[in-house]
Amino acid sequence: MTTWQDDATRDLMSLGGRLALLERGEGSSVWDADGRRYLDFLGGIAVNSLGHAHPVFVDAVSRQAATLSHVSNYFASPAQLELAARLKRLAGTGDEGRVFLANSGTEANEMAIKLARLHGGATGKSTILVLNGAFHGRTMGALSITPKAAYRDPFEPVLPGITAIAATIDALEAAFDDSVVALIAEPIQGEAGVVPLPEGFLARARELTASHGALLILDEVQTGSGRTGDWFAFQREGVVPDAVTVAKSIAGGFPLGALITFGAASDLFYPGTHNSTFGGNPLASAVANAVLGHIESEGLLANVTARGAELRAGVEGMPLVAGTRGAGLLIGIVLSEPVANEVRQAAHERGLIVNAPAADVIRIAPAYTIGDDEVGEFLTLFREALAAVATTIPTPTETPA
Ligand SMILES: *Cc1c(COP(=O)(O)O)cnc(C)c1O
Repeated sequence: MTTWQDDATRDLMSLGGRLALLERGEGSSVWDADGRRYLDFLGGIAVNSLGHAHPVFVDAVSRQAATLSHVSNYFASPAQLELAARLKRLAGTGDEGRVFLANSGTEANEMAIKLARLHGGATGKSTILVLNGAFHGRTMGALSITPKAAYRDPFEPVLPGITAIAATIDALEAAFDDSVVALIAEPIQGEAGVVPLPEGFLARARELTASHGALLILDEVQTGSGRTGDWFAFQREGVVPDAVTVAKSIAGGFPLGALITFGAASDLFYPGTHNSTFGGNPLASAVANAVLGHIESEGLLANVTARGAELRAGVEGMPLVAGTRGAGLLIGIVLSEPVANEVRQAAHERGLIVNAPAADVIRIAPAYTIGDDEVGEFLTLFREALAAVATTIPTPTETPA
């Protein structure tokens, strides 16, 4: 008898990622094909903002699919216009802002690179600064601004004109000169292990980009759309960027990304310089409107902040936990030993989904809708997983000489 793993090995591109065969979801639960339930605290990698099969999501998909799904970029639609206006309002761009709707975070970042190039064309500058540890996506452009050798080396040469620097204020100051056309950075590096930028980094970046005529472009694909308890992470820093990219949580699991521009950067694109057949289609736009509208009307950002604080306080002092970092419901749980993958596996065996973006970091990014039950169940299962792994780690006295 062949298993689903056999089918996957034979038919899917060999790229990993087959931890279970998930069939159904509801709220923060998912079930595999054997009927086994998991508490989902990864949320499809910070995507399922309302959890699984939320009535608002289901209703929006169904209604819009029965009305108008796709029209191409030759046409506008009411859902698309509503979403663009909503994103401008939530980002606080004022009238001058503009929005482009794409289908993923990577695509939004591709457009951000093109924004920098257009700005370069207008100013004669060419260097894009990016930060070590960054993750901006896997297409050739996004990969070029992602300075991780394992992702990039097989695909060299990548785009020229990109300089990676350490994520420190000193390195930023040393790297800045008049050749810099843009700095592209994540306020919290999710894939690196939920690593926030140093205190004051974004404010200094804003000063340096402004004084050198460069763009400050923030990749909020993971931190945006309310994930940190603010609509955008930059809003808690009191900094206004020239552009921000979003995706992941924005439509609760429906594929959608966006580039939002502020001020003069809004006038760089012109007809012929970019577009997308699927981008901004009425179906994706309507779902994003429904999901973001529900987050607003239910005041879910307050829940994101409160539950995030509860979860962080709850894991403090557990076996192997050295501390926590992140914001809202994007949390990195830092372990005292490099056993994150073992902890992830132990959690999985107990019916809890989390992930291990670094050897000593567990990431959680649950739905904005979680309540007392989900927080309580997570803390119980996670403590059990940690305790199980802790017993396998030899204490110094037991270590063979
Ligand atoms: C996930 C992610 C991306 C890539 O988004 P996709 O939707 O997978 O293309 C880019 N930047 C950041 C910060 C991300 O977390």
